[in-house]
Amino acid sequence: MTVNAETHAPAAKATWRDLPAAQQPSYPDAEALRAVVADLESYPPLVFAGECDQLRARLGAVARGEAFLLQGGDCAEAFDAVSAEHIRAKLKTLLQMSAVLTYAASVPVVKVGRIAGQYSKPRSKDTETRDGVTLPTYRGDSVNGFEFTPEARVPDPERLKRMYHASASTLNLVRAFTTGGYADLRQVHAWNQDFVKSSPSGQRYEQLAREIDNALSFMKACGTDPAEFKAVEFYSSHEALLLDYEGALTRTDSRTGKLYDTSGHMVWIGERTRQLDHAHIEFCSQIANPIGIKLGPTTSVDEALTYIDRLDPERDPGRLTFVVRMGADKVRDKLPELVEKVTASGAVVGWVTDPMHGNTFEAASGHKTRRFDDVLDEVKGFFEVHKALGTHPGGIHVELTGHDVTECVGGGDEIFVDDLHQRYETACDPRLNRSQSLDLAFLVAEMYRD
Ligand code: PEP
Ligand code: MN
Repeated sequence: MTVNAETHAPAAKATWRDLPAAQQPSYPDAEALRAVVADLESYPPLVFAGECDQLRARLGAVARGEAFLLQGGDCAEAFDAVSAEHIRAKLKTLLQMSAVLTYAASVPVVKVGRIAGQYSKPRSKDTETRDGVTLPTYRGDSVNGFEFTPEARVPDPERLKRMYHASASTLNLVRAFTTGGYADLRQVHAWNQDFVKSSPSGQRYEQLAREIDNALSFMKACGTDPAEFKAVEFYSSHEALLLDYEGALTRTDSRTGKLYDTSGHMVWIGERTRQLDHAHIEFCSQIANPIGIKLGPTTSVDEALTYIDRLDPERDPGRLTFVVRMGADKVRDKLPELVEKVTASGAVVGWVTDPMHGNTFEAASGHKTRRFDDVLDEVKGFFEVHKALGTHPGGIHVELTGHDVTECVGGGDEIFVDDLHQRYETACDPRLNRSQSLDLAFLVAEMYRD
C-alpha cells in the first residue's frame, strides 16, 4: 500500500495557533487540555491521506459539473447514538437518496456523511436561560453535556478523547457496511420500492422508481454484475471547529510531505468561523484535505474571491466547495452575483446548497424547526440560479436522520407543528426524518431532470 500517514508527526507549522479563533470552549484547566492534546497526538489517524486525495478528485468532478455531491447526517452527533442501529439507519437513508439521485442526474453521486466527527457545535449565544437559571450553552458532546446542569455544562477536555473513539468506531462500522455487502444497489433499490409503496406521497415517485427498476432488470438480463453495485465509496466529514482536536490529528503524510487533518476526509468551515484573519481559515489553508466553507446571505463577492485565494491558491478543482446557506427567501437574490463573479475569476469550485440553516425558526411550542417546503424552495432557488447562469448545481448538504423523528414540519407524510414534541430528539438543529429525506431526494431528482 502506498498510502500512509505518519502517526507521530503532529503539525510542525501550527501557524493558526497564534490567531484568534471564534467558538472555542473555555476550559477551566489548561494543563488537563494539554495532556489530552498530547494523547491525541499519539493516536493513529482516523483516515488515510490517500483517501482524502481520492475524495478531492471526486469533488473535482463535482466542481467541473461531472458529478453530484450528497452530504448529510446529523446536525450534532451524540455519544449515546454511537450504535449499530443509529449508524445503519443514517447510512441506509443516504444510500437510498443516492440511488435515486444517481439515476436522475446520470452522473456519479459522491457520498459524504456528516458523520464520525460531527460532535462540535458553534452557538449563537454563550449562555442559555431556563426558568431563571442561566448556564453555558451546550457546544456538542465533544465539549460539554447536553443536560441542563452546572456540572454537565463545564467544558471537559477528556471529551475530545471520547470524540476520537466515537468517531473511530463509527467509521469502522461505516466501512464495514459500505464494503461488506450491505450497500448492494439492488438492496438499496428494494428499500426505495418499499418507501414508494408505503409513503402517502409515494405514487408521485412510482414512475421514477419503475424506470430504475427497468434499468436494473435490463442490466441483469444482459448478465452484468458490476463490482460497483456491491460496494460504495463513502466518506466522512465534519465542521473543523475545535482547533485543539483538529490540530492534534493533523499529521504529515510521508508520501507527499503535506499536512492532512486525519480526523475526517473532508472538513468544513462554518458560517460563524469564516473570518478571514482568524485561525479556522489559516488552519484549513495549511491542510491538504478537501475543504468546504459555508456561505451565508451576507457573503460578499470580495470575501468569496479571497476564500479562493487563501484556500485554493493553486486553483485545483475539488479542493474547495462552497456550501451556500442563504435561506429560501434570499438565495435567488444573493447567489447569482457570487456564482457569476467566481466563475468569471476562472476558479473552478464546487457549489452545493445547504437548504437547512437559512430556514430555521422557533415554533410557538419553543421547538427550533424548519419547514420542508422552505428547504425544498431553497434547493429550487439554487437550481434556478445555476440554470440561468449555465453553471452546475453541484450537490446538497442536509441535516437528516434515518429515524422517524418529528423535528421539521411538512413533507409527504406530513408533520404538523403540534406533532413536534412527539419525537424531537436532536441535540441541536432539527433534522429531516427518514421519509422527508427520501421525499427530498425524489423531488431533487425531478428538478435535476427538468
Ligand atoms: C451546521 O452545519 O450545523 C452549522 C452550524 O451550519 P452553519 O455554520 O452554516 O450555521
Ligand atoms: Mn446545524
